[in-house]
Amino acid sequence: MPMRKVFSFFFAALILSSYSLFGDGHVLDCVVIDPGHGGKDPGAVSKDKKTREKDLVLKIATLIGNKIKEGYSDSVKVYYTRESDVFVPLQDRADFANGKKADLFISVHINASYKTAPSGHSAHVLGASSNPERDLVAGNLDVCKMENSVITLEDDYHTKYEGFNPDDDASYIFMTLMQGAYYEQSIYFAALVENSLSDNEGPIKVRRGVEQNPFYVLWKTAMPSVLLELGFISNASDLGSLRSEQGREDIAERVYTAFREYKSNYDESMKYGNQ
Ligand SMILES: [Zn+2]
Repeated sequence: MPMRKVFSFFFAALILSSYSLFGDGHVLDCVVIDPGHGGKDPGAVSKDKKTREKDLVLKIATLIGNKIKEGYSDSVKVYYTRESDVFVPLQDRADFANGKKADLFISVHINASYKTAPSGHSAHVLGASSNPERDLVAGNLDVCKMENSVITLEDDYHTKYEGFNPDDDASYIFMTLMQGAYYEQSIYFAALVENSLSDNEGPIKVRRGVEQNPFYVLWKTAMPSVLLELGFISNASDLGSLRSEQGREDIAERVYTAFREYKSNYDESMKYGNQ
């Protein structure tokens, strides 16, 4: 092998090895916040029909975004996949975030159950289901199906999503093969959010933890991506917090705290990663 070639290999290896966990070469300066649902898709609805997921997540997402804008007015750009009550297809949400070359994608949702007992907050990253009770093979994909089923509201979903059927378990199998390049970073942010939301004073009491799930919108984004389920609309205690302005403010503040820690670690890691 000619010497010049040896050197270029050597330098390529050096550059690659200097990449850290957050190795894409710059500080965190762009976030896309994704309020789930909207328009003709209300998301989950409270039992008394008075509260809809699409309205709650728009409010909470806006609070989170405002906090980031205030805290990092010069250094972080914040974009939303929607800023009003409009329907935005899942693919468009991912395309939007990819177009902005965002460093972090935060999808905001509220959970729901047919029963009134389940409650709590959880953070989801793309992957095969990590919880044995939510085993893919067993077909316990209720949350994912609920969040992904919005695809069927799109007129042309059969062609647009290339055979992806949100109701068919088999459609999820191939997604799980795509563990993704941003897995560790996504898990890290998800864990920070869960920690931040979890204490006795928290507005949403139960910690459900970090889970891996095949959410379509996470699959299609080319950056660390986390989907937050901030309480259950079907649970009286969670709903009480979500309906209260103070409760939403508290939730947003806790997500923002997690964001600050994530950014600080991300930027620090960049500093050493590129020396
Ligand atoms: Zn949702």
